[in-house]
Amino acid sequence: MAAIHAPCIIQGIEFRVSACIGLTVYPKDNRSVDTLLRHADQAMYVAKQKGPMSYHIFDVIHDSKVKSGFKIINRVKEALRLGELSLFYQPKICLNDCSVVGFEALLRWHDPERGLVSPLDFLPQIENDKIICDIGEWAIEQAVAQISEWCATGRNWSISVNIAARHFQEKSFIERLALVLKNAGHVNPGLLDIEIVESVALDNIEYVNKCIVGCQGLGVTFSIDDFGTGYSSLNYLKQLPTQTLKIDQSFVRDMLVDAEDFSITSAIVGLAKAFNKVVVAEGVETQEHFFALRKMGCDLAQGYLMAKPMPAADVVRWEAEYVQSAQYRALRQAHGVAEMALA
Ligand code: C2E
Ligand code: MG
Ligand code: MG
Repeated sequence: MAAIHAPCIIQGIEFRVSACIGLTVYPKDNRSVDTLLRHADQAMYVAKQKGPMSYHIFDVIHDSKVKSGFKIINRVKEALRLGELSLFYQPKICLNDCSVVGFEALLRWHDPERGLVSPLDFLPQIENDKIICDIGEWAIEQAVAQISEWCATGRNWSISVNIAARHFQEKSFIERLALVLKNAGHVNPGLLDIEIVESVALDNIEYVNKCIVGCQGLGVTFSIDDFGTGYSSLNYLKQLPTQTLKIDQSFVRDMLVDAEDFSITSAIVGLAKAFNKVVVAEGVETQEHFFALRKMGCDLAQGYLMAKPMPAADVVRWEAEYVQSAQYRALRQAHGVAEMALA
């Protein structure tokens, strides 16, 4: 570049030429000659964007990540189209009387090659692509239809749907939600809850606040998911007017063996009360957790102690068995004893 940039004098006038260089290095970039030249060319365009006299080395690792990202996005698009996605439902239980108040809808992918795939195995790769909005809208439609089906048999259970930041920030979110609710007919929108994480508001808290208020105007409710793992800013708590806080399972899991996790869990319960919000503990796996959370004043519990997420078709049978179970009686009885002791 220095050689090219050396001044050249033409008819007494000094001219300088600047160059940009794009390069890729074989064998790290282990491709055919044509592809190597194309990669070097791509790198040159990046160099040009940086400005005159710049160079850029083709990033092999980033390129393969982008390519596998495209691959997974296309596979998930296809999965949505072919009906390979479904929602599993996990109950939320009232800690006082052990009644079932609602369910969280959790995404599952029935991949013909890999079997049942957890959302954590594909959502992180697609959460910044438009497909996450299509999945979110599909999930809301499914949940609304499920609410309607349960209500028709007298089960007024709410359903929470997880909505990604990218989707919630779409300009048309409220409009589309209104349309889904309208198309569903007589569904009570108060039974639809939208779970968002705090980071949804990182870029524009005022806009997100307006969106939440707008959706609440349609009758739906909101929960802040995984509370405690993000910024947990009190300003967010004030500006994100959600009805519910969900304590992240990482705190709940160790609260009986880790004094700090116990303090964080009870502090979040206290915060929720102070802000007049319902508080849900996630990841409740044992009766000891259940009783400790009840003592703290936590409102609802969700976790493997009551049930793992299950297909919609299993929910009614699960509930019938749950209210007959010895565990249900034990949890209720302990509450009855507590009430008697108080009286
Ligand atoms: P999340 O919303 O915090 O959901 C709770 C996760 O904890 C679920 O994992 C659930 O199966 C798991 N869980 C519940 N109880 C227990 C327990 O007692 N012990 C343990 N160890 N785990 C428990 P899952 O279904 O794998 O979902 C993981 C995450 O993926 C969710 O975390 C949520 O962030 C995301 N996700 C799930 N479904 C959707 C969806 O439809 N849309 C979007 N955007 N995200 C979703
Ligand atoms: Mg959630
Ligand atoms: Mg969570």
